[in-house]
Amino acid sequence: MLKKFLALTICSVLVVPLVQANEVNLYSARKEALIKPVLDQFSAQSGIKVNLITGDADALISRIANEGKFSPADMLVTTDVGRLVRAKELGLLQAVQSEEIERQVPTHLRDADQQWIALTIRARPIMYAPERVDVKQLTTMEELTDARFKGRICVRSSSNIYNQSMVSAMIEQLGEENTLNWAKGLVANFARPPKGGDRDQIKAVAAGQCDIAIANTYYLAGMLNSADSQEVEAANKVKVLWPNQGDRGTHINISGAGITRHAPNKANAQALLDFMLSKEAQAWYAEHNGEYPLRSDVEQSDVLKSFGEFKAENIPLDKVGAQNATALKLMDKAGWK
Ligand code: FE
Repeated sequence: MLKKFLALTICSVLVVPLVQANEVNLYSARKEALIKPVLDQFSAQSGIKVNLITGDADALISRIANEGKFSPADMLVTTDVGRLVRAKELGLLQAVQSEEIERQVPTHLRDADQQWIALTIRARPIMYAPERVDVKQLTTMEELTDARFKGRICVRSSSNIYNQSMVSAMIEQLGEENTLNWAKGLVANFARPPKGGDRDQIKAVAAGQCDIAIANTYYLAGMLNSADSQEVEAANKVKVLWPNQGDRGTHINISGAGITRHAPNKANAQALLDFMLSKEAQAWYAEHNGEYPLRSDVEQSDVLKSFGEFKAENIPLDKVGAQNATALKLMDKAGWK
């Protein structure tokens, strides 16, 4: 009897952690509406429960750091490479390997030590008012500093990480001095002091407050798909221009993820990461958030197709993340508020 009791006790001790482990804890800087449907699909297929905590990327990163080795976090998702690099530099992530990653994620879109990988691509082209801008004479980001564009450009603030990463990528490719001169020239052509988000820059072009904006395509896609007819109307007044097609390509960023250093459910996190690279998850992002899939076998949405094909920058994104501090100083020096 006692033997049987002991055997049962040992069994339950062994079984309980396995039951508890059938979950994964995700800290996501991506808004719930833009990740939950994919997570639900993953849970339905795998039987693994996803506990989702959403928040500001920097807040989530400090939370993981403060929780230390007792952190329940298994995975961190962010919508910019700069934050992933920050998390890696703080020693919060660990290397991941999988066949799926090898197959689906181009090497320039993952960390050299495999501590984070891209999940989707986000493009940051020029957007313009077609009746006021002659695009035959505008093919590069460098040309935005020309005197003919004085008082005509709208861009959000330098405190925004998309701009920081864009400038970081330029530093990496053109050097610090050229990039500083570019930033000064751009600031000199601003239509107004930076305010609002990317969507506000697009709306300002539509409203005639400026002629040119720099913005991520998924904002324009979101406006075109909006239930608000005024947003659709504004978006239809703006066109996408893919700069630097003759040389380095248009700046891109990523949404991406890494598995945390002390992940208590590493295998489940790995399974989730692989799922995010699946055809269905990639297609969902293309369709619902106007982001570009990593996989070539996933069709782009009609809205993305309407923006046209483009050549993207292909510098390793970990280098872009590493230039963040330099970019910040440079933008400040250029007077980019
Ligand atoms: Fe965004």
